[in-house]
Amino acid sequence: MEPDAGPRARIVGTRDAPALWKWYLLAGCLLSAVYPLVPPAPAKLVVWPAIGWSAVAAIVVGVRRHRPDGQIAWYLLALGIATFIVGDDLYSFRNFVQHDDVPFPSYVDVVYLAMYPLLIVGLVLLIRRRSPGRDRASLLDAAIITCGAGLLSWVILIVPYFRSQDIGVLERLTSIAYPLGDIALLAMIVRLAVGSGRRPISFWLLAASIVQLLIADALYGYLNLAGLWHEHNVVDGGWIAFYVGWGAAALHPSMRELSARSSGSPRVSRRRLLLVGSAALIPPAVLFVEQLNGEVVDGAAIAVTSAILFVLVLARTSGLAGEVSEKRSEARFHSLVTNASDAIVVVDDIGVVRYQTPSAARVLGRHAAELLDHPIGDLLAVEDERQLGVLLATAGVTTTVDWRVRSGDGTWRDMEVIAADLRDDASVHGLVLTMRDITERRALDAELRRQALHDTLTTLPNRSLFHDRVVHALSRAARRQGDVAVLFLDLDDFKMVNDSLGHPSGDDLLIAVAARLLTTLKSGDTLARFGGDEFAVLLEDGDVAHAAEAVAQRMQDALREPFRVGEEDVPVHVSIGIAVGRAGVDTPSGLLRNADLAMYVAKRNGKARFERFVPEMHEQAIRRLEVASELRGAIDNGQLVVFYQPIVAVATGLTLGAEALVRWNHPSRGLIPPNDFIPVAETTGLVIPLGRWVLDEACRQTRAWQQAGLVDDAFYISVNLSARHLRDTSVVDDVVHALDTSGMTASALLIEVTETGLVEDLDPAGTVLHDLKALGVRLAIDDFGTGYSSLGRLGTFPLDVVKIDKSFIDRLGGHADGDAMVRAVVDLSHTLGMMTVAEGVEDPDQARALSRLGCSVAQGFLFARPMPADDMTGALELEGLKLVAQP
Ligand code: C2E
Ligand code: CA
Ligand code: CA
Repeated sequence: MEPDAGPRARIVGTRDAPALWKWYLLAGCLLSAVYPLVPPAPAKLVVWPAIGWSAVAAIVVGVRRHRPDGQIAWYLLALGIATFIVGDDLYSFRNFVQHDDVPFPSYVDVVYLAMYPLLIVGLVLLIRRRSPGRDRASLLDAAIITCGAGLLSWVILIVPYFRSQDIGVLERLTSIAYPLGDIALLAMIVRLAVGSGRRPISFWLLAASIVQLLIADALYGYLNLAGLWHEHNVVDGGWIAFYVGWGAAALHPSMRELSARSSGSPRVSRRRLLLVGSAALIPPAVLFVEQLNGEVVDGAAIAVTSAILFVLVLARTSGLAGEVSEKRSEARFHSLVTNASDAIVVVDDIGVVRYQTPSAARVLGRHAAELLDHPIGDLLAVEDERQLGVLLATAGVTTTVDWRVRSGDGTWRDMEVIAADLRDDASVHGLVLTMRDITERRALDAELRRQALHDTLTTLPNRSLFHDRVVHALSRAARRQGDVAVLFLDLDDFKMVNDSLGHPSGDDLLIAVAARLLTTLKSGDTLARFGGDEFAVLLEDGDVAHAAEAVAQRMQDALREPFRVGEEDVPVHVSIGIAVGRAGVDTPSGLLRNADLAMYVAKRNGKARFERFVPEMHEQAIRRLEVASELRGAIDNGQLVVFYQPIVAVATGLTLGAEALVRWNHPSRGLIPPNDFIPVAETTGLVIPLGRWVLDEACRQTRAWQQAGLVDDAFYISVNLSARHLRDTSVVDDVVHALDTSGMTASALLIEVTETGLVEDLDPAGTVLHDLKALGVRLAIDDFGTGYSSLGRLGTFPLDVVKIDKSFIDRLGGHADGDAMVRAVVDLSHTLGMMTVAEGVEDPDQARALSRLGCSVAQGFLFARPMPADDMTGALELEGLKLVAQP
């Protein structure tokens, strides 16, 4: 911003014109040099008027030539000078032509004094033009200087007239009027000097001429009072300089600037402070000088002036503080704008950049020249450009918008833009756009949000995002009166996979599983991972109730093929619960809970399957909770009973042993099967006292059969021990206790542990198994084939018996692969010195197949169902009788 550019340009424009003012000044100087040499009469009658009137003519010519603003002010000044020269001419005429002794005062003085108001009004008009507003500071500065100068002329020029006894009142007043007028003129020039606006050569010429007048008048007054005054002396030079100064000032081209409107407030320059400061020091200086002269004669005037100056200076300094802080804040603002990381751009009514901070080029990735005077809309995305149009069309808005700006390298940057309409603000005149690049922040936000809502391992949505999607799906479903389906997936026995393969492989497997599951879904469906081996699916398009089961089936199918992890093929199965929810009926968390419940039912019903939620599941769940709370009492109150299922030789059907299977004889609900309370007992830890009781009871019963001679020494009792009990420190003591209290031999006891129970927490279990073996107890692996340990791992445990799971037996006869599987297990077991027992044999074909495959021991409904101890006793008696009867 260059406020001075205009006037300066105009001066440059007129510089070619002949420097008339120089010629005029030169001529003036020559004339004043000649003047003292010319005898008084012609000097006063010819040379003097020539100089005086030339000043008037020069002013008129100057105004014509330079056409300044406010010509009337200049004409008033010309008139003032003209008045003065008329006064001079009248005086000289009477003095030298009429040879009158012109009295003092006379009408000539009236003409003379008329100059003052004219000059003062002219100067006031000039000042008004330069700084139209209120310029308090300049006014105060001018007042302070005038006040100081006023005291000086009071003491030097005015007071002597008061003191002098030999002049009349009129004469005295007239004499005082001159210095008063001079001081008024001085005040004007000081006001010009300290006000805003430039002080060109023209100003200095004017100031010099007024100072000349002041000096000349002062000298005249002094000489007059002292009676030393005579015509045609050196003082005349001062007046001549006064005239020439005015003329030259008006002829100088810079005279235009005197009346040119200035912008901004005047600078508080050091020179100015010095000037104002010295003016304020005049009263003490006067006091000091008078004191030196022996007597203080103007004490009152000095005191009054000091007081006035004090008040003026006080008023001025309060303003000064503001000015200084304003200047400081202006400087601070400038440096802020220059160094800011934000770009500030001012655009005009049609969106063209009119101003930009230096930072703008950097922030917007453009050269400064690409921005200034170009439409900012060219850099914006289409919709943002439209928004800019709306902003420009509405007045007085301040708003924050997000725009995308194309950077110089062609990339799009996200900008947070504060738009403030300052088109009505004279100092801005535009829409101010403060832009901040938030691209990185945006990206970071998005990444953080993504991380908060996604599973880091599989990058699938996590539980909270899934929950969110269910919420929205339900509200969308409400609109179209549709359903929403949620599938809850839990990989079967994944903990075992993790433990046996190691966590990194487990993670790889999870990623692979997620990828396969995704292939079964449509694009609108959501697959989420809830953590661990839990996944969930959200279906919301179309007939989700039917689609859900199809998806569940597809997922089961997709996992059929084992996963290759390192060197091993790992089979993965999943249990799935399905819940279909209706908007307005189901809550999101209720829906998830139902799917979860259905999944547990799928697990209980044999895993690797899906179940659809039905309200009974909820009731069952509640019942299971009740069971959990009642179970403790059931153990203490003797509500548990042990059933026995014979284990027979396939070929003969003769009883080789029996498996103890617990039941709960519930007072109101009757006989409850173990699958309904053993899982609860495992989670609550009650399975340990329960196992203790079964151990004691089964051993006691077996000992009773032994003592009754119903069974021989080869008869054994199979007792199931939960994995949890096996990991408990009490387990060996519990077995010892059962043997001791019953008196049964350890070799008659076979402890069944599931495959899961063996693999989990292998180490403690391993030592426990050896401790048990050391007692003479035999060990069996139960439900073999449902877990994941390979056949090869069988040998790592000190086992005596392998119980082949019912699911393999079911596939016997007809299914070639079923036969092969059983054969492999049987062969390997025998190689390892283990006996095999087939479980759940239900039909004779299976029995025949087992014989063929070399599995000679079995249990199942084909031979006998589990039965109460008394029935078992009866059966043993019957078998004994049969044996005796047979030869
Ligand atoms: P399990 O150890 O595999 O026991 C065999 C289960 O198969 C028994 O179910 C038995 O009734 C059933 N079963 C036997 N032959 C056949 C057949 O031909 N067809 C069919 N469909 N099923 C047959 P049960 O008595 O309901 O016991 C279920 C499970 O409860 C047992 O499976 C065992 O894991 C657990 N369990 C039973 N008693 C105890 C116990 O005292 N302690 C512990 N920890 N678990 C027990
Ligand atoms: Ca068993
Ligand atoms: Ca079993």
